[in-house]
Amino acid sequence: GIRSNMSIKEQRESLPVYQKRDELLRLVQQNDFLIVVGETGSGKTTQITQYLAEEGYSSKGVIACTQPRRVAATSVAKRVAQEVGCKVGEEVGYTIRFEDCTSNKTIIKYMTDGMLQREALVDPDLMKYSVIMLDEAHERTIATDVLFALLREAVIRRKGGLKLIVTSATLDSQKFSRYFENCPVFHIEGRTFPVKIFYTKEPELDYIQSSIETVIDVHTNNPPGDILVFLTGKEEIDTCCETLVEKMSLLRAEKPHVSELIVLPIYSSLPSEMQSRIFEPTPSGKRKVVLATNIAETSVTIDGIYYVIDPGYVKVNAYDPKLGMDSLIVQPISRAQADQRSGRAGRTGPGICYRLYTKNAYLNEMPANTVPEIQRQNLSYTILMLKAMGIDDVLGFNFMDRPKEQLILTALEELYILDALDENGVLTEFGKRMAFFPMEPLLSKTLIQSIEFKCSDEVITVIAMLSVPDIFYRPKEKRDEADRIKAKFHDYNGDHLTLLNVYNKWSDADNPRLWCQNNFIHEKSMRRAREVRRQLLKIFDNLDKRERQAESSVISCRGNWDLIRKAFVSGFFKNSAKRAATHDPDEGSYRTLVENTPVHIHPSSSLFRKHGVDYVIYHTLVLTNKEYMHCITKIDPKWLLMYAPRFFKTADSSQLSTKKKT
Ligand code: ADP
Ligand code: MG
Repeated sequence: GIRSNMSIKEQRESLPVYQKRDELLRLVQQNDFLIVVGETGSGKTTQITQYLAEEGYSSKGVIACTQPRRVAATSVAKRVAQEVGCKVGEEVGYTIRFEDCTSNKTIIKYMTDGMLQREALVDPDLMKYSVIMLDEAHERTIATDVLFALLREAVIRRKGGLKLIVTSATLDSQKFSRYFENCPVFHIEGRTFPVKIFYTKEPELDYIQSSIETVIDVHTNNPPGDILVFLTGKEEIDTCCETLVEKMSLLRAEKPHVSELIVLPIYSSLPSEMQSRIFEPTPSGKRKVVLATNIAETSVTIDGIYYVIDPGYVKVNAYDPKLGMDSLIVQPISRAQADQRSGRAGRTGPGICYRLYTKNAYLNEMPANTVPEIQRQNLSYTILMLKAMGIDDVLGFNFMDRPKEQLILTALEELYILDALDENGVLTEFGKRMAFFPMEPLLSKTLIQSIEFKCSDEVITVIAMLSVPDIFYRPKEKRDEADRIKAKFHDYNGDHLTLLNVYNKWSDADNPRLWCQNNFIHEKSMRRAREVRRQLLKIFDNLDKRERQAESSVISCRGNWDLIRKAFVSGFFKNSAKRAATHDPDEGSYRTLVENTPVHIHPSSSLFRKHGVDYVIYHTLVLTNKEYMHCITKIDPKWLLMYAPRFFKTADSSQLSTKKKT
């Protein structure tokens, strides 16, 4: 890239926000609330915090900047540390769930919005901070939406001691301004070039296939410039990367004049060394293609992109209150997202965006804006937090966009059946303990119940393993061998115990690295699981201290693994399914107990095609071409009655047979 030859100082001063530095600081000084709108790449995230520190705000408290995504928080912190000239964790640090890389030296702190929300639970006035920047506010994550309301009150209470800056890449700013006491809106004009947009004539049947074809077409026929492709998730990106590398090597064997194509993935769970590779300048004579999730829409800026390929889809976590479950679904993006995506091609020079959908779909089928998460996701974690903050009237909470009442009621009901709330909606002692854990209520309930079942040591391990997305490694050319080796870890009672097996064997290995290699397991993921386990142990320790427990509540079941399954049933009973009477492959081999929805056992499960598995609980439901249960464990239906009495109200097991379809 052109800019890679500049010194850091020159780079910083070449960003659009630099021209506005003094005006911006004046506005911050004069106002408690400020909205900042600017193009992606104008320097909002990396520069504004530094300006504030240079101006002396850091002497009054830490300067925080929130990000909706973990990757953005860590990668930006690294970049800013580099600009400041320190190590990450010194003057510049970051905090994400289960990972705190800050110290008492830290004056600029990047963090996920979820972590700041947790801090607000402990200290509603956020006394540690002098300025908080809620970045990427247009993403409208639940945590950011909740922070809107909490910070609004905190700023007012602290009477000038705390400043709030809300930044957004889109022009929804008037609404933000109205909500924050009609505060000023500050615009940073970006440096953008025109982007030529192409649509497909017909809707694409297979957007992955056509993405790959378009990449190769651009690479072989277009002038230099890097390519950015938007896909929906990790699996898709990994497969696409493999296919591209394969196709390119075939192509270059046939046509040696075709230049090298560097294929790079970027998604949230990618290890950070891999992530930073996307920022390295492309060597001359080569071309880079980055396959990204919607993280590259606005939160991570990659320089040198001239071509964007946009299939028009995004994966979102959506909650269907009627079905009573959460699932990851792939859905069309909004027009605002489509515009953000094409904009990525015009940062370094005039660019081209290939939209793999029709112009008609863009104009008439896509919604104008993305629905805020708070209006589509399960709110039980959020509501538990609000209740734990003493906010009882959640229906009357001052949200910028109020979620539908039904969503709130569903969450209240879920918290009730988990024993976190009583009949009057008041937080119980049990609920207070649940709120102590920075995780979904189903998980925190399981963790707390594991103390009762005397298997918390093992449950902590399983939950740590569940929190890392990617344990098993399946290279394309050795798929069968990898599957055979994986099967050695399978526990006949299911995937939770299989994960425990893997963790235990890994901990016992003399040479963990070699062990991982031989067993097709990602070593990074294992180390991350161990780190999450450590963090969970710390939370248990804090809980013990708070409750003045003399003995540790971390207890091993010493091989009595049924207890582990029981602990999971007491948290995940809602995610239960029963084998269907008929085995119509299209109908699903299981039915959920709650809504009688047809579901399937995912082929990666250790229970796939196993006999005698009549009742199961699952960790997540993923909707692809079928509704798949992921991470599944066999259970005894009696446990549902015993450990979820508020849900399966009567001890009548007829309730456990699924309803007849009418
Ligand atoms: P904005 O928040 O307005 O979108 P940023 O402050 O994130 O802009 O980015 C400004 C510039 O800093 C980008 O154009 C990019 O060149 C550079 N940059 C940001 N993050 C990194 C990184 N992790 N590595 C290298 N350069 C980066
Ligand atoms: Mg930014």
